[in-house]
Amino acid sequence: MPAEVVMPKLGLTMTEGLIVEWKKKEGDAVAKGEVLFVLETEKVTYDVEAPEDGTLGKVLVQEQQTVPVGAVVAYILRPGENAVDLPGDSGEAAKAEPPAAGAVKAPAAGTTRKPAGKIRLTIIGGGTGGYPAAIRAARLGAKVTLIEKEHLGGVCLNRGCIPTKTLLQSARVIDTMKTSAAFGVKCDGFSIDFAAIMARKAAVSEQLRNGVKGLLGAKKVKVIQGTARLVDARTVQVEETGEKIASDAVLIAAGSKPVVLPIEGIDGPDVLDSNGALSLQAIPKSVVIIGGGVISCEFAQILSTMGTDVTILELMPTIIPEMDKAMSSILHKSLESSGVKILTNAQVKKIEHKKKGNNIVTYAVEGVEWSAKAEKVLATVGRKPALDALNFDALGIACEKGAVVVNEHMETSVPGVYAAGDVVGGIMLAHLATAEAECAARNIMGDVCSMNYRVVPACIYTSPEIASVGLSEEQAKKIADVQVGQFPFKGNGKAMVLGETEGMVKIIAEKKYGEVLGVHIIGPHATDMISEAVLGMMLEMTTEELAHAIHPHPTLAEAIMEAGQTLAGGCIHMP
Ligand SMILES: Cc1cc2nc3c(=O)[nH]c(=O)nc-3n(C[C@H](O)[C@H](O)[C@H](O)COP(=O)(O)OP(=O)(O)OC[C@H]3O[C@@H](n4cnc5c(N)ncnc54)[C@H](O)[C@@H]3O)c2cc1C
Repeated sequence: MPAEVVMPKLGLTMTEGLIVEWKKKEGDAVAKGEVLFVLETEKVTYDVEAPEDGTLGKVLVQEQQTVPVGAVVAYILRPGENAVDLPGDSGEAAKAEPPAAGAVKAPAAGTTRKPAGKIRLTIIGGGTGGYPAAIRAARLGAKVTLIEKEHLGGVCLNRGCIPTKTLLQSARVIDTMKTSAAFGVKCDGFSIDFAAIMARKAAVSEQLRNGVKGLLGAKKVKVIQGTARLVDARTVQVEETGEKIASDAVLIAAGSKPVVLPIEGIDGPDVLDSNGALSLQAIPKSVVIIGGGVISCEFAQILSTMGTDVTILELMPTIIPEMDKAMSSILHKSLESSGVKILTNAQVKKIEHKKKGNNIVTYAVEGVEWSAKAEKVLATVGRKPALDALNFDALGIACEKGAVVVNEHMETSVPGVYAAGDVVGGIMLAHLATAEAECAARNIMGDVCSMNYRVVPACIYTSPEIASVGLSEEQAKKIADVQVGQFPFKGNGKAMVLGETEGMVKIIAEKKYGEVLGVHIIGPHATDMISEAVLGMMLEMTTEELAHAIHPHPTLAEAIMEAGQTLAGGCIHMP
């Protein structure tokens, strides 16, 4: 089957789009992610990318034609397919009825059509993808079996989001103790009980894990402790017991595992991944962290606040390279001012293991080799989908660059088999795993749901926190004529009250209509505040609307409003 290219839905109110220009012509080879055509709506001009590799087989809608959202505008031929087999260009496809809000296409091909109460769904993995999907499908009437080989809650609850945030909270308390005199509260000495910090971390995870167990039980989801393996597209086997579970649909939510870099000495006893760092028995004297991504920066702050001498070695020119540059630059300075050493453009060459924690990490910056001593080396350079043991090859489930390939309904190349969360690659975040898995569950149950990746927030829980949604300034400038508004927390009353005036809100909007394309916050409670921007951007908020929405006083969120005002007549609390 050739791949359909459809008129995308860029916002809740968009019903149709004008094709301004085709960037490819029939017969051209196209690569996934390459721009196929430029579309214009009432509000934005947007580059639409190829959904997969292939050859542009047939263009159904010509330049300057307007078609409804969801209409097929072209076909991409997969290897071995022929343009002769494609549906004609009678315009039928292009004149398709606009779908309901939130829907883009007809239900996915493999979606079962049994009555809801009869649908049997088996879910592999009980992480932030798997368990919400189980609850959603059960709410919609499915009989759900969930197989989990380790702990309910997956990485997020047990070895990821929650444990790291619990440790960061302990670090925050230490900081509060250190700075309490500024608030008129003198604290005559305090000590850190690392075992108690780790025990609290474990207790928080356990409580949440038990909560998930209770929720699944309340929805009568059958939870099996074991390792799942696909026998065929409708049968899952539990390896430990041999039990075979027949299903009408399967959802794979098997998560991810750490990437291991091919560096000499990386398998040494003092080299830890994030799991190892979360199991430390004592605070190390010194740590070299390989990689300057989100997880690295969070661990850097946890450890340095507890007294560890921390050095980050980052290969790219900036830490958190995917972030808006203004944000990563402020975080860089902030981490450095709290004592973390950061070396960018630094390529780690080897790790030599020496006794008594005197390990030596050799790295090169612009061709010159240097070394750093460390008791522990933390390698947090990313994660990759966990595909092993699932029998994908035998079933013919398509994978690309080590991740399961899915369509916008989260269905794999094998009808009736769905995948969601880290296992499909791309942005690996807990809330995205949940959104994808719930989307899959709804499609399995006969709803029509498509994933939209335009408005996905991303957060870093350091002090100051960073939260962002939408395009960075650098990305936005590539697709639109943009304006940028900023408001610093030093002009915000609540930030002054908290004694946390570092940071700012940055808003990127396109110039013609003022539609907000990206919001980036670095400062206190940024991760809680970003949701206002998420909702606003889903509703295609403009800077005028943001500037005139009345915000309560005194709140940190006023800084978001004032950043909007800088693009809509000027703000009040900065000259
Ligand atoms: C240190 C760290 C900090 C993080 N912090 C954040 C954060 O603050 N915010 C955020 O959004 N994201 C964060 N993440 C990422 C987040 O944890 C993941 O994106 C999220 O857990 C993905 O959910 P998932 O359900 O796809 O996979 P997982 O949570 O990995 O769950 C997959 C589950 O499947 C099980 N499984 C795998 N194979 C099988 C099998 N064959 N049979 C049975 N069970 C199987 C696994 O045991 C696992 O429990 C962090 C990650 C790490 C490592």
